[in-house]
Amino acid sequence: MTVNLLDFDPQGLEAWFASRGEKPFRARQVLRWMHRFGQSDFDAMTDLAKSLREKLKAEAEVRPPAVRSDKLSDDGTRKFLFDVGNGNAVETVFIPEDDRGTLCVSTQAGCALDCAFCSTGKQGFNRNLEVSEIIGQLWQANRALGGFAPDAKDERKISNVVLMGMGEPLANFEHTVAALRLMLDDNAYGLSRRRVTVSTSGVVPAMDRLREECPVALAVSLHAPNDELRDRLVPINQKYPLVELMAACRRYLEKAPRDFITFEYVMLDGINDSDQHARQLLDLTCKVPCKFNLIPFNPFPGSPFRRSPAPRIRRFADILIQAGIVTTTRKTRGDDIDAACGQLAGQVKDKTRRTAGRLIPIAEVRP
Ligand code: SAH
Ligand code: SF4
Repeated sequence: MTVNLLDFDPQGLEAWFASRGEKPFRARQVLRWMHRFGQSDFDAMTDLAKSLREKLKAEAEVRPPAVRSDKLSDDGTRKFLFDVGNGNAVETVFIPEDDRGTLCVSTQAGCALDCAFCSTGKQGFNRNLEVSEIIGQLWQANRALGGFAPDAKDERKISNVVLMGMGEPLANFEHTVAALRLMLDDNAYGLSRRRVTVSTSGVVPAMDRLREECPVALAVSLHAPNDELRDRLVPINQKYPLVELMAACRRYLEKAPRDFITFEYVMLDGINDSDQHARQLLDLTCKVPCKFNLIPFNPFPGSPFRRSPAPRIRRFADILIQAGIVTTTRKTRGDDIDAACGQLAGQVKDKTRRTAGRLIPIAEVRP
């Protein structure tokens, strides 16, 4: 079996080279070839000794997940579907904007956390993605977008990465952190810590570990201002309720006083979108430096929810803004190709007892 070099973070790659009697700077050279120049052919890594190239060819490979499809939306959003084997496929979305290009990356085939309004959750869960499958999405998208070309250096095609695709990144902690280290490494993608965002539904112990190991920007999927409603919308709340989640948010920011948490809040008509909910949110989050990102609910087949009407979302945002909280409403992008938030479904061979067809009846969710 050959080793896939995309499975190593920078330190792991040095360790693997050391185990082969090679110096750390050789690992860094190969890291640069793979992640800065998008090279997968050892023969093209011309500053390596021929003997090392031969050794690498015999023992290793650079194998990203295969692109199964690549669709372009009318608004420029581009959705890739990657084959990750055994009938599973995950999705990655590129969102171009005037001043940036954001890649939304998946971390699991499916998701075990089963949030009531999420298409990925309704598909069930198969497995964690490998490091090569997480960083491989960036590798493949960058290649497809021309981001590895020598003249692409000044103007990055992918300037921001958000781990907001399929899966809960903090439930696949080790592999997620290894991929983050590659994103931040100057010999690889060289993205600054603030341009890489992990989105979590609130896995409290893993938030503390992330702060210690790789404190990138953090988005927290809040979606409800009280435990009673959040228990139903985001079931992991039953394990880590809001007081604990808010305390973890404060701890996350302790070492970075200029940072803030982005609270994501999906707008569900008649469920979590009243003036009272907005005011409750202000009380809940008053001790956490934060911004709010309201996400109009994106429907998917069989979902029991409706999107809040635009005037309701504006009114909700106004209450937060008047209290001094920076609040944005996410534009719905790529919905013509099912690439909008929460619509990512890929293909998941569910291994849990949950079935894709079982949806929570709306009566169970209403407050
Ligand atoms: N598991 C992580 C990251 C992936 S989900 C998390 O939950 O944060 C990325 C974001 O999309 C989350 O805020 C999630 O709550 C939101 N989302 C899920 N389903 C959605 C839907 N149908 N419409 C709009 N947003 C949705
Ligand atoms: Fe998983 Fe996030 Fe979807 Fe919840 S919203 S089911 S945590 S992917």
